[in-house]
Amino acid sequence: MSEVVLQAAETLNKADAILIGASNGLSIAEGLHLFADNQAFEKLFGDFKEKYGLRCILHGMGGRWPLEEEKWAFWSRLICHYCGQYRPTQVMQDLRAIVGGKDYFIVTSNGEGHFALGGFAPQQIYEVEGTWLAMQCAQPCHNALYPTLKPAERMVAAERDGRVPADLLPRCPRCGGPMEIHIAAGHRQIPDTGAQQRYEAFLRRYHEKKLVVLELGIGWRNQLIKAPLMRLVAQEPHAAYITINLGEVYIADDIQNRSFGLDGSVSDLLFLLRKACAS
Ligand SMILES: [Zn+2]
Repeated sequence: MSEVVLQAAETLNKADAILIGASNGLSIAEGLHLFADNQAFEKLFGDFKEKYGLRCILHGMGGRWPLEEEKWAFWSRLICHYCGQYRPTQVMQDLRAIVGGKDYFIVTSNGEGHFALGGFAPQQIYEVEGTWLAMQCAQPCHNALYPTLKPAERMVAAERDGRVPADLLPRCPRCGGPMEIHIAAGHRQIPDTGAQQRYEAFLRRYHEKKLVVLELGIGWRNQLIKAPLMRLVAQEPHAAYITINLGEVYIADDIQNRSFGLDGSVSDLLFLLRKACAS
């Protein structure tokens, strides 16, 4: 096993707490590729591809669907397949083993809920761009979030020819208007202030402690998660930084001496890291 993996494992084992940052590269390691026109996309959305020219999952998530019946056919299929039928992958199991009994927090731009579905505590996860598993009033006329999984299962069961029957379409319980998936609500998105506050409390709790930032599959130019995490490490004297990415390992100059860059497949490296942590 390479020296850098062993050193990263040793750092993790000595940590007071672990802060996980994750983005699209982790989803890809789990077999969910938002940008790909691959076999999985063809299987789940081949009819939409043919009918509307849908190019990938992300395209559908940001799509201006002509009808609510079609919008909800897309989302309910997506949610049932990738959330309802999700079983924790090797990647998630390795990550849980690496964290072990340590305190942790997860900051992610992934909205498919796999951390919580994979056994991490929902109270210790902040999905910064929103979630697939909640919906809100599209306006919104009020600030409540509503679960999507059960309604999605009902919609998938009743869908015909890429459309959900009108009587099953989610409606706002207050104004009766259309609903929007939380992550797709754009500038109207209701912020998850609870998760934000819990994240800030976690950072206060481990201020000047041995905090290890474990960053998974985040592109080198990412400003939403990666840049703030590197700044955090620069400001925290005892923090360390581990980044895992395929072909895109980037570490800011001012934290090089406290960082470990693991270039390779996220799934392979998490597996190696788990073994190294246990040895
Ligand atoms: Zn409303």
